[in-house]
Amino acid sequence: MPAVGAHAGAAGPFTHLELPDASQLGHDFTEEKAQELMTTTSQHNLIVAPHVTSWSAEQNLQCGLIVRPDRRGVGYVNELPGDRDEHGVLWVKVAERHGAGKPDFARVHPARQRQAMKELLCQVCAKPADRTSDGVLWLMRDHRETEDPDWPEHMASVEPPTCVPCIEISLRRCPALRRGAVAVRVHEYSVMGVRGTLYKPGVFAPEPLRIEHLVHGDALAGWMVAASSFRLLQKCSFVSFEELGIAADLG
Ligand SMILES: [Zn+2]
Repeated sequence: MPAVGAHAGAAGPFTHLELPDASQLGHDFTEEKAQELMTTTSQHNLIVAPHVTSWSAEQNLQCGLIVRPDRRGVGYVNELPGDRDEHGVLWVKVAERHGAGKPDFARVHPARQRQAMKELLCQVCAKPADRTSDGVLWLMRDHRETEDPDWPEHMASVEPPTCVPCIEISLRRCPALRRGAVAVRVHEYSVMGVRGTLYKPGVFAPEPLRIEHLVHGDALAGWMVAASSFRLLQKCSFVSFEELGIAADLG
């Protein structure tokens, strides 16, 4: 079994995909750039935030976490069958009001992340991710200088894949990402497990221990409240943006 924890993906999906705000962009934000951005977004379903991003109206639901009567893990006071996935793992419950309020780019919506990961949907637009005979397409922050030489081989990714148009949108909106991102074709991408908060029995209620990646079937899974699922990325190969038909000059 690969050491998935050691290769965990960087935190969160494209938090840098924020729609530019004139107050944040200072003197560089020209009307010309605004027009260009609007043209780009209108060509791709008026995306203002990645599909998996949570919105301000999508707050965590208070479910009452308890130690189950059989002492084999945690559960909700009034638990429903849909509160667990097909592996029996409990998931954090978050209101589903996609598009209500403002996008909160630091938070990923658990249900949308899980669906996008399971169905290999683009994490930005929710259409099918790009796929060729070489594999499914992932856009990642470039960690080649800080990770193992074979990075991202055997990486446990909580970030769903992407389609080509959304890579271009991502790069257009964030010059820093353009300097520090790579596109990767992944030939094997099995769903391996969940990432979330691991709990232990407490005096009055379960107490959080740590954030953990657990492979499906792990004995500790009963003590997990999952917030995302991950896939193990194998047989990875880099693909240049030029090969994807994305213009080099996106500034
Ligand atoms: Zn897309």
